[in-house]
Amino acid sequence: MHNNFSEAFDVIVVGSGPAGGECARELARRGRKVLLMEKSTGIGRPNFSSGGTPLETFKDFDLPFEIGRGTWSKVLIAARGGAKTWDYGETRGYVFAFDELKQFLAAETVKHGGKVMISTAAEEPTLEGDSVVGVKCKGVFGEGVIRGKVVVDASGPVGVLASKIGLREAEPEAAAIGIELIVEGVPPEFRNVLAFYFSDVYVPHGYGWIFPFGEHQCKVGVAVYGASKHGIPEDNHGTAGMMALLKKFMEKFPQFGDAEPVDLHGGNIYITGGIKNHSSNGFLVIGDAAMQINPLAGEGIRHALHSGRMAAEIIDRKLSANDVSRRALAEYDDRWAAYIGKKWRLSYLIAEKLYGDLTEDQWQYLMRILAGLSASELFKLGFDFEFLKVIKFKDVLRALKIKGSLQSYLRRREKAANRSHVATTHQKQG
Ligand SMILES: Cc1cc2nc3c(=O)[nH]c(=O)nc-3n(C[C@H](O)[C@H](O)[C@H](O)COP(=O)(O)OP(=O)(O)OC[C@H]3O[C@@H](n4cnc5c(N)ncnc54)[C@H](O)[C@@H]3O)c2cc1C
Repeated sequence: MHNNFSEAFDVIVVGSGPAGGECARELARRGRKVLLMEKSTGIGRPNFSSGGTPLETFKDFDLPFEIGRGTWSKVLIAARGGAKTWDYGETRGYVFAFDELKQFLAAETVKHGGKVMISTAAEEPTLEGDSVVGVKCKGVFGEGVIRGKVVVDASGPVGVLASKIGLREAEPEAAAIGIELIVEGVPPEFRNVLAFYFSDVYVPHGYGWIFPFGEHQCKVGVAVYGASKHGIPEDNHGTAGMMALLKKFMEKFPQFGDAEPVDLHGGNIYITGGIKNHSSNGFLVIGDAAMQINPLAGEGIRHALHSGRMAAEIIDRKLSANDVSRRALAEYDDRWAAYIGKKWRLSYLIAEKLYGDLTEDQWQYLMRILAGLSASELFKLGFDFEFLKVIKFKDVLRALKIKGSLQSYLRRREKAANRSHVATTHQKQG
């Protein structure tokens, strides 16, 4: 356990979630002197995520299957307008024990020579001129500045350092809130199924889910997009309002009448589609801190792992070239833009409509489109975000009453987003 403020590092990674954990593990594997800093009293906390993920996550990141507590071979989607279950005939994915994923990545970091410092919160970046040269932090081991050639902000939705550097707003709009119970007992129909429930029938402006979690438990949760806009205050994860919605959602399933909750957790999800500039001199922001969560259903773990690995590869090369300037680290912007492609913009567009005010007719139309998809097409849609390869987008735009072509819609959206960004920046400066 690291508790020393005087040692300097090649890289300090702030936050031991999937993004920070993977970034630190990869840097340590590459022989870099890395410190993984976590404000919680133990790695694994906060243990807030539902952890649904496809099989590919385990293969791509060499993860042990034991940290996938639940398995799924089916996907169920229900909404106003019907329900359908797709059967993959074999395990198609897992539900992470989220705490164990984080503990695994931190343990691997240590195994490869990295250091971990718990109970220590990064407060602000330390600057020399316009370069970040360390982190001012405070915790049970004291307070002070720890120096690093590169500092990575992987602090999740709060984006503690990136907001101070001005790479993102501290509290962007379009926050969703998710809240979840782990309950004892899995009704047989929910074994091996990743079940999603959309539309006002289940959760207005959001969706509900039931995921299997091991042999004896399941995770039951609800998320609301644009929560404060819909009357749910975001403080304390909007617990009171969200709990009322979760209770209502669970009432739809008499099977959960006697269910015993053993854990309650939740968090904010910024579904803005991400930020454009991730770097400053000696600094990168990754994962949820850079809002790298797919807007369609708030899937973020797989993308956080990818962002962590991508950042580590780039930082390692730039350190070897002795150039960690903003311009050098900005390679990350291009790599990330290529990773998300146009697909994430479409995810955003669809999410905005799905969690907006669709009419009964529109839901029925969408459910008819979904019902016509094979299991592999549904996977391409829900996990690869390959909308244009799977559905006729022209029909979807017409059904959702979006005027003009897809391209012109996206251009209109982008202009509006830039205008609102400029307006907020001016407000802040004013
Ligand atoms: C209720 C809910 C359900 C979800 N379900 C799913 C799902 O089923 N599948 C999926 O793929 N994604 C899901 N997500 C999203 C997913 O959990 C996130 O996208 C993912 O955890 C992001 O990883 P990260 O490492 O960027 O951030 P985080 O996991 O948020 O990790 C950030 C870490 O930084 C630490 N930290 C914060 N501030 C500081 C500081 N000042 N100093 C030091 N450390 C700090 C935090 O304690 C935390 O450990 C869900 C999210 C929520 C809220």
